[in-house]
Amino acid sequence: MQLTFDNQFTSALPADPVTENYRRQVQHALYSRVTPATVAAPALVAYSREAAGLIGLEPQDCETPEFAEVFAGNRTLEGMDPHATCYGGHQFGNWAGQLGDGRAINLGEVETAEGHWMLQLKGAGPTPYSRTADGLAVLRSSLREFLCSEAMFHLGVPTTRALSLIVTGEGVVRDMLYDGHPEEEPGAVVCRMSPSFVRFGHFQMLTARNEVDLLKAFTDYVIARDFAELVPTTGINRDVYVAWFNEVCQRTARLMVEWMRVGFVHGVMNTDNMSVLGETIDYGPYGWLEDFDPNWTPNTTDATNRRYRYGQQPGIGQWNLMQLANALVPLIDDTAPLEEALTTYAQSYEAGWQDMMAAKLGLAAYDADLVNGLLNLLTLAETDMTIFFRSLAMVDQGGPDADALHEAYYGGPSVKVNNEAQNWLSRYAAVLELQQVDPATRSASMNAVNPKYVLRNYIAQLAIDDAAKGDYTLTNTLLEVLRRPYDEQPEHEEYAAKRPEWARTRVGCSMLSCSS
Ligand code: AMP
Ligand code: MG
Repeated sequence: MQLTFDNQFTSALPADPVTENYRRQVQHALYSRVTPATVAAPALVAYSREAAGLIGLEPQDCETPEFAEVFAGNRTLEGMDPHATCYGGHQFGNWAGQLGDGRAINLGEVETAEGHWMLQLKGAGPTPYSRTADGLAVLRSSLREFLCSEAMFHLGVPTTRALSLIVTGEGVVRDMLYDGHPEEEPGAVVCRMSPSFVRFGHFQMLTARNEVDLLKAFTDYVIARDFAELVPTTGINRDVYVAWFNEVCQRTARLMVEWMRVGFVHGVMNTDNMSVLGETIDYGPYGWLEDFDPNWTPNTTDATNRRYRYGQQPGIGQWNLMQLANALVPLIDDTAPLEEALTTYAQSYEAGWQDMMAAKLGLAAYDADLVNGLLNLLTLAETDMTIFFRSLAMVDQGGPDADALHEAYYGGPSVKVNNEAQNWLSRYAAVLELQQVDPATRSASMNAVNPKYVLRNYIAQLAIDDAAKGDYTLTNTLLEVLRRPYDEQPEHEEYAAKRPEWARTRVGCSMLSCSS
């Protein structure tokens, strides 16, 4: 396996001078060099051929014992420079101080003709940032991260990528619901890929420590490395910082629109889990909306306040951006342009959301009354959002019949709901007529933005159940199905089915904790 590393992050930025691996506060540095832990018996569960292709690896490179050794952390390739980075963050609204890569180890940056990819192991052992935890990860959460990263990519949602899922052959103890029932689970390591794993919390940490020179050097580095189009020939100045913050706001707005489009709930939108690239990052207790409920969160750790519920994600995106803005004040010495960018975020989100809703409905233009009516309709009965929109694409716009939507309802619609649906469909048909939407192309255009296949919570759990017994067939089948989320795949219809009753309350399906 041949990979070329250029490691600009570690060569451009200051390292922690301490190289011993013990937990500590790390000041005046962006990262600490650390070696991944060695594991007993690495074995490949699955790999993404598209992610591998991005760094020039062919299937035959990935199906070797060497690949499993390297991406479990047992062997370091020539040119790698393993390190864990230092960041802080607001967790559930409160400043938490130093967090950092507690169980993530960056191996190095692969340079390719199209760009660069940082390779990062998650679950490869403790780092100076592990605090009181073990630096490890279990199979269930790793499988969820691996599959969902690639599913999101194929859905067209910005995301970090996942190269591989490898079991370590070692047990990891977790108290899944934090209720005093620790159990040993299979350990696993995921290799993630992104041009950059820089989070809002990296900037926050430097500012919290008043390391302003380093904040400037780091921000300059991040802009030059991943936002080069913003850098004028005269170099980086105050206006460039403002332009960059604006760009992060715009990317975050787009990401929020995309999550809302596909019904994704991240579950832990802490500022340390926000990428400056505007990618979905850190898949933990995330979930997919089954029943359309704006108040839903899969994260039992957040059950009381529901801070990170589906409908609040765009607002939290703005709150998180405000924390990033606060961290940038020392570079800009003025809050007005930052506040302006935050206002623009809200406007861009709203405009993007309207366009997205119009596209989901196959409309030529957004119609506020119609969409408000729809949002109301979707909450009248337990309705599967994914199936609803696919069914809606099939409705005859010349003579719409609410029967076409039956599949979307959990437990079947009441007479009242059915009547409401029929009324709304009549208005929908009238708007389509008014906007001169072509019936011949409407369903194809809707199906291009309304996925048929998402990683349904209970289906991920079925793959986990099998994988825990050493059977990785379903994991690999899902990886394949989710490569074409917008296509009808009649042979895989079962993976588009709505949540069965047994999964309603089963832990791991609609209820997840941060334990991973
Ligand atoms: P999260 O919000 O789950 O992404 O993680 C919050 C912080 O906890 C990050 O700094 C993680 O690196 C750290 N963390 C989570 N799980 C572990 C673990 N098992 N060992 C070490 N650090 C962890
Ligand atoms: Mg995190």
